[in-house]
Amino acid sequence: MERLQKVIAQAGVASRRKAEGLIIEGKVKVNGKVVKELGTKVSPSDKIEVEGIPLEKEEKVYFLFYKPRGVISAVSDDKGRKVVTDFLPDIKERVYPIGRLDYDTSGLLLLTNDGEFANLLMHPRYEINKTYVAKVQGIPTKMALKQLEKGIRLEDGKTAPAKVKLLSFDKKKQKSIMEITIHEGRNRQVRRMLEAIGHPVQKLRRERFAFLTLSGINAGEIRELTPHEVKQLR
Ligand code: URA
Repeated sequence: MERLQKVIAQAGVASRRKAEGLIIEGKVKVNGKVVKELGTKVSPSDKIEVEGIPLEKEEKVYFLFYKPRGVISAVSDDKGRKVVTDFLPDIKERVYPIGRLDYDTSGLLLLTNDGEFANLLMHPRYEINKTYVAKVQGIPTKMALKQLEKGIRLEDGKTAPAKVKLLSFDKKKQKSIMEITIHEGRNRQVRRMLEAIGHPVQKLRRERFAFLTLSGINAGEIRELTPHEVKQLR
């Protein structure tokens, strides 16, 4: 059961606030009866009409987006910066990102209008692996990599063990490319972990989310997940 105004808003008819207005004005019917009570709960089988028009259930949609750097993981920004939904095809569903990537981080970000699915994937209990490729300053020693694998003490607690690979390094420039896989999703976690071992991140890209990768798409591109992919993630 969900609140009537929420269901109307989720169907894309109006914002939550406007939906409340419509209810108070007596423009909403549930199963043929006008309902003016804002707290009214409705179930999926209830027939809702707004201004005489039956509410169509918003279809659930799922996208895989290759977020470029310089884009906010949000659906709007009061400073007018680019947001992830600027890259969507013309759809009527209102989607939002599942979790977030920093403004300066590029890579794989899922978008959906399915709140239940989003909550599931973000729940720490599911421990979904996310793999990042980081360009860092300096060349990490074996000891430093071991530290990451064991867990690093950050100001918000010790991190869970990470999987780490040193992919390449440039002795002259004192730069390295590392791959790091974590299943937690704390704010700026990878940047803070690498900073903590003395190798600040210069560039960060999320390559993988569970079994999904960026293969076949370029930065700024978006594709729908296949029904099979959605099923596998659940
Ligand atoms: N870790 C970070 O530091 N930044 C991200 O955007 C994602 C993970």
